[in-house]
Amino acid sequence: MEETHHKFMQKALLLADRAEQQDEVPIGAVLVYQGEIIGEGWNQSISLNDPTAHAEIMAIRDAANKIKNYRLNNTTLYVTLEPCSMCAGSLIHARVEQVIFGASDQKAGAVESVYQLLDSNDKQHRVKWQGGVLAEECSSKITKFFVTKRAENKATNKKTEQEPSTRRNEEHEG
Ligand SMILES: [Zn+2]
Repeated sequence: MEETHHKFMQKALLLADRAEQQDEVPIGAVLVYQGEIIGEGWNQSISLNDPTAHAEIMAIRDAANKIKNYRLNNTTLYVTLEPCSMCAGSLIHARVEQVIFGASDQKAGAVESVYQLLDSNDKQHRVKWQGGVLAEECSSKITKFFVTKRAENKATNKKTEQEPSTRRNEEHEG
């Protein structure tokens, strides 16, 4: 199981790189059904002018489109950062079976850090979850992104772009 989790989290990390190439906070996600990836997503909120374009949402949309079903029963979502409240809610609506995430998000995480949405929704559908898979790699990718960004901004003396609060992490603020 651990090996499987690592394999798919590695794939999510590769998609996070794609976000970074688009100058987006590097977060990636894959949706897996019976050992196959049926949906891919990476954070694209800025490039798409879409505050809902988080990696998880993009992966869910991709998969639902592919299988022509708004329910994603018996699937597992792998994402490099703990889902926010919007994404946790979407996992419930989509009937995703479980979510596996990498780094925790102390500012906006809605699975264990700030809210525990998946544990408090017995009536509708319970999404199982596990965090901490390749957490170090997942979080250092985000940290490095902001460090590089700050250095670039300093170099060009540009006004520092506001980090979206949902993607802020304690350690980035230090
Ligand atoms: Zn989200």
